[in-house]
Amino acid sequence: MTETFTGNFTQQEPIPEDAIEAAVAVLRHGRLHRYNVAPDELSETALLEQEFAAQMGAKYCLAVSSGGYALATALRAVGVKPGDPVLTNAFTLAPVPGAIASVSAKPVFVGVTEALTIDLDDLEAKLDQAKVLMLSHMRGHLCDMDRLMQMCDAAGVIVIEDCAHTMGAAWRGQLSGRQGAIGCYSCQTYKHVNSGEGGLLITDDPELGAKATMLSGSYMLYERHLAAPGPEVFEQIKYTTPNVSGRMDNLRAAILRPQLRDLDRQVQRWNERYDEIEHGLRGTPGLKIVERPDAETYVGSSIQFLLLDWTPERIAEVIQRCAARGVELKWFGGAEPSGFTSRYDSWRYADSTPMPVSDRILAGIMDMRVPLTFSLEDCGQIARIIRAEVSAVYQS
Ligand SMILES: *Cc1c(COP(=O)(O)O)cnc(C)c1O
Repeated sequence: MTETFTGNFTQQEPIPEDAIEAAVAVLRHGRLHRYNVAPDELSETALLEQEFAAQMGAKYCLAVSSGGYALATALRAVGVKPGDPVLTNAFTLAPVPGAIASVSAKPVFVGVTEALTIDLDDLEAKLDQAKVLMLSHMRGHLCDMDRLMQMCDAAGVIVIEDCAHTMGAAWRGQLSGRQGAIGCYSCQTYKHVNSGEGGLLITDDPELGAKATMLSGSYMLYERHLAAPGPEVFEQIKYTTPNVSGRMDNLRAAILRPQLRDLDRQVQRWNERYDEIEHGLRGTPGLKIVERPDAETYVGSSIQFLLLDWTPERIAEVIQRCAARGVELKWFGGAEPSGFTSRYDSWRYADSTPMPVSDRILAGIMDMRVPLTFSLEDCGQIARIIRAEVSAVYQS
């Protein structure tokens, strides 16, 4: 008898009750704009920034309207100008090259390894082409951050981290987003905390913190922030930094604060699910597990495996057979961008040179979300279905 999975791959957990109550309180008083505060009141947004900075061990934090906005703000804050090259991952999602394009800069794509991390040899060869690296920890895979930071520091390349998939992850115990000059996070529904839309940016650099705050649309109200640099830093930059409105509002901040307090527990739950699926897939003929380095503390909110050197037809057959049994696999190798997936060469607004070594890997990347609404039994069943269908196609 063949089993079929009946769960939903895009169903997140409900917003926790304490977050709902906090949101309702904001709705009741009506002061949704972050700078609209009663006398002596601290806004939810300012408190969120203060708490996230403390949680991450960062000096400064800014809450904004989306992860993509945080990335673009980081690029502006470090001084990227129209036409400037910006190094970034070939394996990432559209908001990353999109953030670079939004400041009229030019992505320079760096290849991907079988560990699904940025190819550090390729990066080394391209380091002299740009002053900034927008490093995307795509699907939560961390590269050797020690080697990357050494290389970039030596070359004077500023690192901006895209931590959309690594909120709560760490490299040798140091939280992801704390290695580069700026760390950016997304609070969009499919990430690790859910306010529908939203983003967070952290840094230890006072000038970058002040510029990002002005850029986000603080007017001259920056003293209402609790995790921003002092007014003397703003004095230096306030006349020369444009307002590119993209603030977070108090409703979203209220929803996020309780979720961030619960992040560690959620990470543990994700990893129980991830490990269950990985365990079930290990040893499947023709399927390569993406091994995780010992130095990496990961957040298994999605899982990837490789069908390396499979023909597109056979990969399509696996996807279709799994879908028929209720398991939704995404494929990064598809010629046409579909859903959330796309390849570096599908962003035609950005020039790219073919990267055959990366193309071979991209062509074999299979990707699956692991929502927390799945039980461990669900995860075991999903792994059995993938294992059976991959084996069947492999052996046919
Ligand atoms: C979601 C995501 C972003 C951007 O986040 P938004 O909040 O959707 O703008 C950036 N990078 C990656 C890899 C993402 O998955």
